[in-house]
Amino acid sequence: MKTIGLLGGMSWESTVAYYQLLNQEVGRRLGGLHSARILLLSVDFQEIEVLQHQGKWDDLGGILARDALTLEKAGADFLVLCTNTMHLVAPAIEAQISIPLLHIADATAERIKASGLERIGLLGTRFTMEEPFYRGRLEEDHGLDVEIPPAMDRELVHQVIYEELVLGKIREASRNEFKRIAEDLERSGAQGVILGCTEIGLLLKQEDVPVALFDTTVIHAEAAAALAMGDDPALGGVCP
Ligand code: GLU
Repeated sequence: MKTIGLLGGMSWESTVAYYQLLNQEVGRRLGGLHSARILLLSVDFQEIEVLQHQGKWDDLGGILARDALTLEKAGADFLVLCTNTMHLVAPAIEAQISIPLLHIADATAERIKASGLERIGLLGTRFTMEEPFYRGRLEEDHGLDVEIPPAMDRELVHQVIYEELVLGKIREASRNEFKRIAEDLERSGAQGVILGCTEIGLLLKQEDVPVALFDTTVIHAEAAAALAMGDDPALGGVCP
């Protein structure tokens, strides 16, 4: 079994879910007392969040590339960056490491395509919904048609992520807003909705809405477990 290098802490609330999902998935596949081989480097999220909102992406790329290299040197066979937003600096990280990075948008897109969907809503931080690194990858590399909420709802989703979810605060009022926004996306033609922030799954569950949800934390962790157990690293083979 390969050793998974988890670069987490963004936020630690969702890194906990990654750790649990990875071990559960390896146990489910192999049975017995099997569990995942994991190296975890968890950052101080305050430092990251400040730089994000100052737009200092070059600094962030440098910090995460250094941490990724630490995981590589410690023996990680591949890297899992436990956040959608910070994939904005994936190229800077990949430039510094020689192990592969399992990109969260690729794993998610493969799952969506395997479900036969083409038009998909996207919820996440403002960076993930608005910057080209994520949406562009889904559209250009995977041929998906991506729908995002209107500006006021994007702002609301962003605020709930940074003021509640990354602090582990789960509020019914926010769940209702996310339900409404997901249903609005469906009404505007989305066949499913990507929970494109690793904490949204803590708030919004499939049973809350009729539209199909694609939880990036679950999909990414399952893809990582499959890769660790030697499934085809071409991501098409990774998602069951
Ligand atoms: N975990 C979130 C994401 O998946 C947001 C926190 C961050 O900025 O990394 O985008």
